[in-house]
Amino acid sequence: MSELKADALVLGAGMVGVSAALHLQQRGRDVILVDKHELAGQETSFGNAGLIECASVFPYMFPRDFGQILRYAMGSAPQVRYRISSLPDFLPWLVRYFLASSPERALRSAMAELPLIRRSLIEHEALIAEAGVPELLRRTGWLKLFRSEATLAAAARDFERAQHYGVAGDILDREAISAREPNLTGEFAGAIYLPAPGFVPDPGGLAKAYAALFKRKGGRFLVGDARRLEQVPGGWRLAGSDGAAVAREVVVALGPWSDLVFGPLGYSIPLSVKRGYHLHLEPRGNAVLHHPVLDADLGYLLAPMNRGIRLTTGVEFAPRDAPPTPIQLTRALPRARALFPLGEAVDAKPWMGARPCLPDMLPVIGKAPRHAGLWFDFGHQHHGLTLGPATGRLLAEMMTGEPPFADPSPFAVERFG
Ligand SMILES: Cc1cc2nc3c(=O)[nH]c(=O)nc-3n(C[C@H](O)[C@H](O)[C@H](O)COP(=O)(O)OP(=O)(O)OC[C@H]3O[C@@H](n4cnc5c(N)ncnc54)[C@H](O)[C@@H]3O)c2cc1C
Repeated sequence: MSELKADALVLGAGMVGVSAALHLQQRGRDVILVDKHELAGQETSFGNAGLIECASVFPYMFPRDFGQILRYAMGSAPQVRYRISSLPDFLPWLVRYFLASSPERALRSAMAELPLIRRSLIEHEALIAEAGVPELLRRTGWLKLFRSEATLAAAARDFERAQHYGVAGDILDREAISAREPNLTGEFAGAIYLPAPGFVPDPGGLAKAYAALFKRKGGRFLVGDARRLEQVPGGWRLAGSDGAAVAREVVVALGPWSDLVFGPLGYSIPLSVKRGYHLHLEPRGNAVLHHPVLDADLGYLLAPMNRGIRLTTGVEFAPRDAPPTPIQLTRALPRARALFPLGEAVDAKPWMGARPCLPDMLPVIGKAPRHAGLWFDFGHQHHGLTLGPATGRLLAEMMTGEPPFADPSPFAVERFG
């Protein structure tokens, strides 16, 4: 069997791995991308809502409002669902998530991530230009709709806080909502319009375009199972379906599957998942949706993708590999149909994905403490499309000894002891 040699193997060709591979390549490293699929961007990075969320200063933390916690616990909030049978598995992680969501710690997470968030769209714009796919970035911003005065007021307070960190936007009344989205129907208290975030109408296509750029620049792709990674003298080896690859360094960028590699190597890292679903539907007649629209109180989002209107759901706490239970999607469908004229479903069945999450909602980026040449780049939670290229830059700067553009210490795996 032939053996490919490179400077680094990057395990996982989702948005995070492909971006890390490109940034390493830009710095002169010979890189082999490894994935179990023949194409990049086939998993979580395929199915997201397409938002490059450069306005998302505050990560999605565990709520601290008692009423909201009670609604989540009773299963009456459409934004979050959990399976009672999975609760014993999730409870320890949820406790850590709750503790990491105190106002002080949540602010610490937000400030740690802010330089990456600010860099997110800039890094995508550079890669999109180099990949030659300007059509995959729309500068429409997005809309968050609120049905109740109370939720609008709470969101307006958060928005005001975010404005201190440079986030721009407008609070819209009913008329202004209609002017932006004439085809929406419903009783709204108001909306927040965020103009800066980018929208990607084919997120899987963007990961593929970045992977094509990587290959055009001499990068190689190996189909293989990352679980076959082995440490060998002087580096790392992985036997793929068409031969093996060896390199001095390896990056674990397997998103929600990263534990399949760090676990057997002896690392205990509290990586968990928040599952989510999507379904594409045709717009009815000539109806056009101009922006991604979050129906905040009803817990779903509609995004005008190339394939159709993509309905994405909130969070489901269930094991990564358990069979799909798209109850949130089923419940959201009639609400979405009442909001916007939707026709037939384009997909035969709902897609399911898993947001890879650490309790403090920060990714793990940096060197593994106990293995030479092993690097981590996973746990991008709700923002992996957004942050992939920015974290790819940060990781590549660390690996090549360049001064990092942001302080990497909050992302070190050592924070988990
Ligand atoms: C419903 C939903 C909506 C979302 N909306 C947004 C949004 O609007 N904006 C945003 O920024 N983020 C969003 N996200 C989050 C975002 O999609 C993720 O954070 C991101 O895709 C994670 O990227 P990744 O590359 O780490 O993981 P993945 O894209 O899952 O990539 C991991 C790769 O590892 C490969 N792999 C797995 N196991 C193996 C193995 N054993 N051997 C080899 N390869 C393997 C997989 O094939 C895959 O290619 C959303 C997520 C969901 C679920």
